Amino acid sequence: MSDRGMGSLVAGVDLGGTKVLASIVDAENRILGRAKASTPATQGGAAILAAVAGVVREAAVEANVELSDLKGIVVGSPGPLDPDHGVILFSANMNVRDFALGPDLSRLLGPPVLLRNDVRVGGYGEFRLGAGKGKSNVLAAFVGTGIGGCLIVDGKVIAGSTGNAGEIGHIMIKPGGPRCGCGRRGCLEALASRSAIAKRIGKAHKAGRSTVLASKVDSKNDKLKSKELAAAYLSGDAVAVSEVHRAAHYLGLGLGSLINVLGPELVIIGGGVTEALGVGYLDAIRASAWNQVLTNPGNKIQIVPAALGDDAGILGAALMAREAFC
Ligand SMILES: [Zn+2]
Repeated sequence: MSDRGMGSLVAGVDLGGTKVLASIVDAENRILGRAKASTPATQGGAAILAAVAGVVREAAVEANVELSDLKGIVVGSPGPLDPDHGVILFSANMNVRDFALGPDLSRLLGPPVLLRNDVRVGGYGEFRLGAGKGKSNVLAAFVGTGIGGCLIVDGKVIAGSTGNAGEIGHIMIKPGGPRCGCGRRGCLEALASRSAIAKRIGKAHKAGRSTVLASKVDSKNDKLKSKELAAAYLSGDAVAVSEVHRAAHYLGLGLGSLINVLGPELVIIGGGVTEALGVGYLDAIRASAWNQVLTNPGNKIQIVPAALGDDAGILGAALMAREAFC
């Protein structure tokens, strides 16, 4: 191997319900090789294991390194997880249960493997290398199909006594509100995620209101893509604009409440919905959040967009791998 990262190379993997990304990263956090594949989300554990192993191998080839050069691998994965044993306890999106991805991947590829919650991994990437660079106390929120959070206090990701702290998507915002994926009602995720917005647009359409998204929300709500929602929102589609701002209002209430509790220096908002909708959406979140915040002396606390896009997950995973194995 070359001398550019001798003894200090790691792999970061971002495993999602639709795609899996891998990168080989050196000690200066440079991505030397990367690869991407579709997640075989309906085919069970063996197919997912093969897909993850495949992208790591491909990224290693691109980086021109051997798998045996890697000190370790961290996989950011949807959960819930048993992080101590590298097991995905359950994932509805990936059709697995009690799936020992960590040990299986390590056996297949050689280097040690750790599994970490995907949102915490992405939040850590943004904190260290993206929008949170230079800060110590950060709250990151990611808005997509669902809503996830990552809390960093004094430079450390807070996992809590359960290992699952940071689930901001299931803060209760509206008693008796819409049903959430978790089975409860009125969670932030059920009011402000892309799925929540799609459901509301579907209802408006059924009630006879005109929207360019009619065909997208007709049958399967979860078919609505962030880009399609953004196109309708930015073109001024009245239903899209009102539903996006309604969702932003609820997200702002949640984030404003969290700012009151936690007093972070910075709130980072990322995820597919945020990237696609842009500044109008962010301003609506900010307006609602600041209205909820009791005090922000000297405007010290800021609410900013994420900076790394898709790289947040692979870089955050690589950072965690370096800390664990190097
Ligand atoms: Zn919930």
